[in-house]
Amino acid sequence: MDKQNVPELFGSMVFDDREMRARLSAKVYRSLRKTIDENAKLEASVADAVALEMRNWAVEKGATHFTHWFQPLTGITAEKHDSFITPSPDGGVIMEFSGKELIKGEPDASSFPSGGLRATFEARGYTAWDPTSYAFIKDHTLCIPTAFCSYSGDALDKKTPLLRSMQALDRQAKRILKLFGKDAKYVRTSVGPEQEYFLVDEQMFLKRPDLVYTGRTLFGAMPPKGQELDDHYFGVIKPRVTAFMEDLNEELWKLGILAKTEHNEVAPAQHELAPIYSTTNVATDHNQLTMEIMQKVARKHGMVCLLHEKPFAGVNGSGKHNNWSMATDTGMNLLSPGDTPYENAQFLVFLCAVIQAVDDYQDLLRLSVATAGNDHRLGANEAPPAIISVFLGDELTAILDAIKSDKPYYGKEKEVLKLGVSLLPDISRDTTDRNRTSPFAFTGNKFEFRSLGSSNSIACCNIMLNAAVAESLRQYADRLEQAQDFEAAIHDLIKETITKHERILFNGNGYSEEWVKEATEVRGLSNLKTTADAMPHLLDKKNKDMLIAHKVFTESELNSRCEIMLENYCKTVNIEGHTMVDMVRKNYLPAIEEYLGSLAKATSLMKSVSSKVQCNYEISTMERLSELTDGILTHVEALEAALSDLKKYDDIKATSEAVRDDVLPKMAELRKYVDEAEMLSSEQCWPFPSYGKLLFSVY
Ligand code: ADP
Ligand code: MG
Repeated sequence: MDKQNVPELFGSMVFDDREMRARLSAKVYRSLRKTIDENAKLEASVADAVALEMRNWAVEKGATHFTHWFQPLTGITAEKHDSFITPSPDGGVIMEFSGKELIKGEPDASSFPSGGLRATFEARGYTAWDPTSYAFIKDHTLCIPTAFCSYSGDALDKKTPLLRSMQALDRQAKRILKLFGKDAKYVRTSVGPEQEYFLVDEQMFLKRPDLVYTGRTLFGAMPPKGQELDDHYFGVIKPRVTAFMEDLNEELWKLGILAKTEHNEVAPAQHELAPIYSTTNVATDHNQLTMEIMQKVARKHGMVCLLHEKPFAGVNGSGKHNNWSMATDTGMNLLSPGDTPYENAQFLVFLCAVIQAVDDYQDLLRLSVATAGNDHRLGANEAPPAIISVFLGDELTAILDAIKSDKPYYGKEKEVLKLGVSLLPDISRDTTDRNRTSPFAFTGNKFEFRSLGSSNSIACCNIMLNAAVAESLRQYADRLEQAQDFEAAIHDLIKETITKHERILFNGNGYSEEWVKEATEVRGLSNLKTTADAMPHLLDKKNKDMLIAHKVFTESELNSRCEIMLENYCKTVNIEGHTMVDMVRKNYLPAIEEYLGSLAKATSLMKSVSSKVQCNYEISTMERLSELTDGILTHVEALEAALSDLKKYDDIKATSEAVRDDVLPKMAELRKYVDEAEMLSSEQCWPFPSYGKLLFSVY
């Protein structure tokens, strides 16, 4: 690609504002903008005009089909393609696309999980255009970002509640801003998700059924070299990976995705891509697309992109950092300390709202990132623990402490902070960005939620975050709107909030044993280690009440989501368990047996030639391998029994607990025996590529 052409290339496959402005009449454009910016109702005539121009544009770009692109609860995206063709009287076809087709679709989507939300007789559900996320062309298909609902209006996707949560936050944040004398048209949350992933050679990948079926390795002894030298992190990028990244950037740029930063990560074969941040629902669409395109482009380069949270035991897994902030239509970042004392008071109110939200709804944030895959990371010394806490850095902590105790703040000014009067010092990014062990860190003008797994949709955590912050802001607005002395009321509010929620603030090492003890025993923070522990809290009364009050979810939507997420956890582990059984019975045991046979043959042959040979190596290896095969048999049988026992339960919560307590430990146990056998066996006889080959085969 000619690098000069990036501006021309960028967004060339997107029906973005530039295209709209150029192609739509001024009246239609204005009306559509009003829908996009202010949620105004879309007139049918406007939809028709937009559809016509969208189709013209798409056909010019070579598109033949259109699809309503949506995000069902499976966590990936879905699309059903329809071509534009309509028969014409002369026996040919014309390319047609109406406003109705743009606005609403009816995919036959009965096979998507609905958690009981949808009876089969009304299985179709419908998709509705989200005009705030631009349409784009992918594989000759015009993709229209949509929300997906049942006919009774229940959300069957991740986008609908995300949009609702953004509206909830918008409503409450504007109330607060009004009190500060600011009339914002809207407040939106922005997100920049940093995406980690692994690249492995496609030939190696195809030889590993565990990677093919489950996305992670279920067996594998550690290679002599892992990540201990730290020579991969930010290291020189290998030529094959560079070629992949160049291609990937080009594809992403065409789709208007602001791919910006790329580097090697800690583990061998691990990399990261970060885009420039954008509005949350757009960032969510873009992250889903990024994950899809990463996988596609990798294949073109003879590699496979692994998005699993823990593809390899013993080296770091992959996460995603959700950088989050709130800003007004004029671009004022509400998490940025301002230039005047008054703006600083406003900043502290929004800061407190986030602190309170994280404390009050720790469980919701934790469960929003809970999946079978991510359970392998949280708390494993590579990702933040399952305990949620907030890192503010020393400077902000000192400021809040000073307000709490009415003591002088020993910053530059050395005076008692008086809100609305004193100027806060600049809170430099430098002092806030050092602690990488915190799950939820303030980094200068945004919060970074670091507990997400690499394959998580960012919709889930942003729904919870937006809703929880909306709730703190609602409480503040209710209170401040009644206040006689506004500044005194803010002062009291901040003081009370810090006193009440300081248990969630922690600047120390989040990976340490002491922290787990202190957090759970002294501070009473929750430590929900697995999906089975976390997910049922979605239905706790306080959580339900809040999410329903802000119209983010209905009660039946919450019930269905809890069920779907637990079901997903159980199904994922169930597939992993069966894959292990399959690999052990069909490959590992026969391979070890063959090797044992060759050792035995060699031993008896050698002994028949000379009575002096000891055959210590052959005999000791044989003895240990034979013990191991017995162990493998015992443990594979135990795993089979545990998997078959799962069928006993008709309740999903009980099943998930059995998965956690019975199946997963048995899988771990079985693996130990196989991995030890790998270390004792010849490479030739081993049925699958080793960790060494998988991790170091791309150059
Ligand atoms: P790192 O965390 O690796 O140091 P940065 O903090 O520079 O990297 O950026 C990480 C991500 O944060 C990027 O996607 C960036 O666009 C995003 N980001 C920066 N500012 C904001 C903001 N105000 N709101 C949301 N995301 C932001
Ligand atoms: Mg970061």
